[in-house]
Amino acid sequence: MRKFLISVITFAAIVTTFATVLSAAYVGNSNTGKFHYYDCYFAGKMNPNNRISFSTRDEAINRGYTPCKRCKP
Ligand SMILES: [Zn+2]
Repeated sequence: MRKFLISVITFAAIVTTFATVLSAAYVGNSNTGKFHYYDCYFAGKMNPNNRISFSTRDEAINRGYTPCKRCKP
């Protein structure tokens, strides 16, 4: 029973992680304070350590991030 619970919890964690990644339409750079569309050139270039995911544009704005001038999210 314990093993079953652990595998259910692990599965739920994996699903949650995937859902977060898939729903993140925007990425912010905590170093520059800018946010981008997920497929922006700069989003791909940024250091993964500075990378923050946002599911909505408002979320990024509310956290004090400014839109990228290149991809104009
Ligand atoms: Zn951008």
